[in-house]
Amino acid sequence: MNATMMISVMSTLALVPSLSAAVPAHFSDAAKARLADSIELEKPAYKLNVVYFTGNDNAPIADYERRLSELLLYLQQFYAKEMQRHGYGKRAFGLNMLPNGNVDIILIRGKKSHKEYSYGSGHGACLEEINAYFEANPDKKLSHHTFVIMPTHYDAEYGDKNPGGVPFYGLGRNCFALDYPDFDIRHLGQDTPEGRLLTKWYGGFAHELGHGLNLPHNDGPTSMNDAQGTPLMGSGNYTFGLKPTYMTPSSCSILDCSETFAVEGKAPVFYPDNAAEPVVEALDIAYDGDALNISLRCQAEFCVNAYIQDPEYTVNRDYDAIAFLMKREPADAGKQTCTVRIPLSELKRLKNVRSGEQGIDLLFGTPDGSRFRTRIVFNWDSLKPGDSIPTGKLEFWQGY
Ligand code: ZN
Repeated sequence: MNATMMISVMSTLALVPSLSAAVPAHFSDAAKARLADSIELEKPAYKLNVVYFTGNDNAPIADYERRLSELLLYLQQFYAKEMQRHGYGKRAFGLNMLPNGNVDIILIRGKKSHKEYSYGSGHGACLEEINAYFEANPDKKLSHHTFVIMPTHYDAEYGDKNPGGVPFYGLGRNCFALDYPDFDIRHLGQDTPEGRLLTKWYGGFAHELGHGLNLPHNDGPTSMNDAQGTPLMGSGNYTFGLKPTYMTPSSCSILDCSETFAVEGKAPVFYPDNAAEPVVEALDIAYDGDALNISLRCQAEFCVNAYIQDPEYTVNRDYDAIAFLMKREPADAGKQTCTVRIPLSELKRLKNVRSGEQGIDLLFGTPDGSRFRTRIVFNWDSLKPGDSIPTGKLEFWQGY
């Protein structure tokens, strides 16, 4: 064994204890196996607030600290590995850790009965009480983003085998998910009733958290989905853990500018009130018979995504918007040119490609998390190869 080999073996040995030490001893064997190939994250500047919220008349589900810690850490690894794969480094939403290796989950008991924090209308009262908690305990608020988990209701409709009744959606920088006794990583990927139930609720947990971290719905181009599976922010909430599920380049570009993904020492102040709309100096959307070619010029700080929408793109009917991250090239005077070629063969799952109305959304984001969206609607029936789509004056709205 020469010196180089010796150093190489020694450094491998030195790594083993620190990697295994990262998975706490009290975690389940299933979690230890799932987290064995964990990558070490860059140190986050901000962390996700994780809240377990109950009514005044119900209690957390048994062993929630361990179960949810395992699920959150596995999900953090999924996000981090996808960010790394797309070239953004080993970054994920930061989590506040306790000395025992669990995630610091803040337990808040609501003032009202649990039925008053229901799916339909319960989020307002819940968020009001969480905000009051953070006002009284400002050191516990670690970012603008809060993930709220509530235990399932137990009644004629809901229970251990059919959890529900509580809010389950993203709402701005807050998002809601639920807990039930079999919400446990040991069921992940298993073709059993518990395994299928876990994918439904853990996939939903992963997807709603994406919304709470700024992500809009988006699907991938046909060739990408064929190779990589289903995007988490498309219908990946139904596949996560059971079938290949991934983050699109668009989703990762948005997370790159999301507060809890910022790295210590490189973090701006996020979500300023005075964010300025993008100024698009030139925009061309040309149709060449096989593809749409988009080119625009705007300020250099914006990351731009193009989403191709079918005509029914109202809230929660936009899961199939196909997302394309635009390529950025610096131009003069602090400006840039962003371009993308969108072959129609990549839009196979959309309705109305080549006939009727289609929408193109352009999403603009800056490193401090400011976001703007604009929409261009056109009709294929009046579009011939060689034409450019009339874009008119762009109207922006804030957020995605
Ligand atoms: Zn969604």
